Amino acid sequence: MTPNNQLMASGRSIEDIKSELDALYQKETAGLLGLYRGKKTWRTWVDWRLKTELIRQLYSTKQERDALFFTTNIIGYPGERVLNYDSNGSAYFPTLRHEQILNPKDWRDRLPTSNFKKKKWPPILVEDLLTTWQDDCLDCGKGSNHHCRCNYIAWKTRLEEDWMFTFEIQYLGDPPIGYGLFSRDPFNPNEILGEATGQLEPREIHEKQTDDQASYSLSIPIGSTVPRSKKGQKEAVCYINAKYVGNHFRFLMHSCNPNSQFLIGRIGNRRVAAIQALKKIRPGDLITVDYGEDWWMKGKEKCRCGETTCRRSS
Ligand SMILES: [Zn+2]
Ligand SMILES: [Zn+2]
Repeated sequence: MTPNNQLMASGRSIEDIKSELDALYQKETAGLLGLYRGKKTWRTWVDWRLKTELIRQLYSTKQERDALFFTTNIIGYPGERVLNYDSNGSAYFPTLRHEQILNPKDWRDRLPTSNFKKKKWPPILVEDLLTTWQDDCLDCGKGSNHHCRCNYIAWKTRLEEDWMFTFEIQYLGDPPIGYGLFSRDPFNPNEILGEATGQLEPREIHEKQTDDQASYSLSIPIGSTVPRSKKGQKEAVCYINAKYVGNHFRFLMHSCNPNSQFLIGRIGNRRVAAIQALKKIRPGDLITVDYGEDWWMKGKEKCRCGETTCRRSS
């Protein structure tokens, strides 16, 4: 029996797949544990192969169903489905999407921000907002307006294929703590961990949202805004909102002494909100960023980062 064939049949709900996974997991684990006595190499190989297959299938975005997020259990298998709560207490499963999502309806009838420089308005595609040669290329290091051959799609595809083996999601505590993102690989300072994705929302929508609706939002400049922020002029930005749909970076926790930061840059001609390591990250480390003053102005909670340099613990 191969887990691959088990999971290939289409048209099943995530519940079906999850219960099949559970059964498979029970059975294979029992079998594997039997084999473990005496045949360690074989066991390790089967275990690794099974694990890899299950996780790939589970996170495949090429199927009819939406891909959801799962925690990783103690032996590296998918554990529980990630469940979040709205401010009104209703539960939902956030959806995994590696690409930015733009709903043209959100942008229709909006006036472009004064310093938005781009021909196409209102935007219909993500490219209409985020295509630019401004900023430094985070792949090759070429500066603003120095065209390079870096390919955004290739860069992104490489990260997409491996994220589930590079990071894992763990449950850390009841809301408002929730889930955290841990690294399974080492990273050096300045290394790029990936790009934050979600729904691209205009400023007008963002500003009308409740703190809860906006709690997963991150701003990113749009068009070619030169210079970035002239005094008295609002920078042309939109918001990447990962509350309902986004990638694994929606699980980044805050720390007042973070090991990573958000960094606006480009890969080839695509502007990205990248996550960059600030320090050496070791396997097993929780990935953290500083959410910034805006977030904490809205947040009524105290910080739980536990750092001696914590600025918001009282
Ligand atoms: Zn480049
Ligand atoms: Zn803190």
